[in-house]
Amino acid sequence: DYSDMKINLDPVRQMETSGFAIPAVEPIEVAPTKRAKACFVILVRNSDIHDLRATMRELEDRFNHKFNYPYVFLNNEPFSDEFKDLTSTATSANTSYGLIPREHWGYPSWISEQKAADARVEMKDVIYGSSESYRHMCRYESGFFFRHPLMEQYDYYWRVEPGVKFMCDIDYDPFLYMQERQLKYGFTISIHELVKTIPTLWKTTKQFMRENSQLVAHPNTLEWVTDPRTGDYNLCHFWSNFEIASLGFLRSEQYLSYFDYLDKAGGFFYERWGDAPVHSLAVAMFLRKDEVHWFDDIGYFHNPMNNCPTDPQINRNKCHCDPTKSIHHSSYSCTKEFMALDPMSDYSDRILNEH
Ligand code: GDP
Ligand code: MN
Repeated sequence: DYSDMKINLDPVRQMETSGFAIPAVEPIEVAPTKRAKACFVILVRNSDIHDLRATMRELEDRFNHKFNYPYVFLNNEPFSDEFKDLTSTATSANTSYGLIPREHWGYPSWISEQKAADARVEMKDVIYGSSESYRHMCRYESGFFFRHPLMEQYDYYWRVEPGVKFMCDIDYDPFLYMQERQLKYGFTISIHELVKTIPTLWKTTKQFMRENSQLVAHPNTLEWVTDPRTGDYNLCHFWSNFEIASLGFLRSEQYLSYFDYLDKAGGFFYERWGDAPVHSLAVAMFLRKDEVHWFDDIGYFHNPMNNCPTDPQINRNKCHCDPTKSIHHSSYSCTKEFMALDPMSDYSDRILNEH
């Protein structure tokens, strides 16, 4: 519980102000000179402030007190003074606060609000099935956050949510890691989606591929999302509450065409398409395996699952999590399958011609 702790993230400064001598064993970290154009991006409500502070505290302690990457907070309502106060004092990095424009959080002209309301009634037994705001959120995270003016200056983002945990020290810069290897998409956890939330997403995606075959990459990672027996979507997706990824990827012609196509089809409102399967199917069509990275060394928890490093050296020295509970061991996860994928795999013809 961090609620009554005075947040002062520089350990040396903290000791100075509290009257202790600076210990010789802890070398003072020099701020890295080389940095990526990157930020944390957090879509969040004012009411999430305390869960968010816990998360920021952990992220600062485990990583960002050394690297000082800025935070961009986004909200469909104006941020309160309390929110700004309690987040800006939780980090020494720069914080900025963006209001989401109406056009990015609402119904586009071609959507029937009545049909959307009927769908919410019909889906009341599905998780978030009756929620209108959840649908706006998923559409925003699918198609718009990377177009917010506060994001324009950046090349990479790290998506963070209030309440998530980081259980290991991260001693290197994951943004530079991505940049130096020309990686486009980084994840920690992959799982299977609930089919009731996306009944026509695969059909719509295949239709998109038929009409825009020139946009599909070769090789690609479509095999990872395909059930080999039926040619259907196997529901595997990267859990998008954690992403370290390239903004250029989301701003690309390929991705924007795909998002527009899905948006016109209406499934964000008439079904409950999540940004996780949308991002993941885009990765599958447009990226090669060697452009996608599993951050297996980042200890990460989002209720109810975690990614916990199993390398004994890393786990023992840097983490506080149980490696046997890491979700990649379980059949809920699709990460083993991702890692086993042939880098030269190309399933696009097979999907379009055989099924
Ligand atoms: P879940 O992870 O699928 O259970 O969904 P969450 O409730 O965690 O929401 C996903 C992300 O969107 C989190 O970062 C939330 O803080 C944020 N979020 C969800 N709904 C809203 C909303 O109505 N307004 C704002 N500003 N943020 C939201
Ligand atoms: Mn969440």
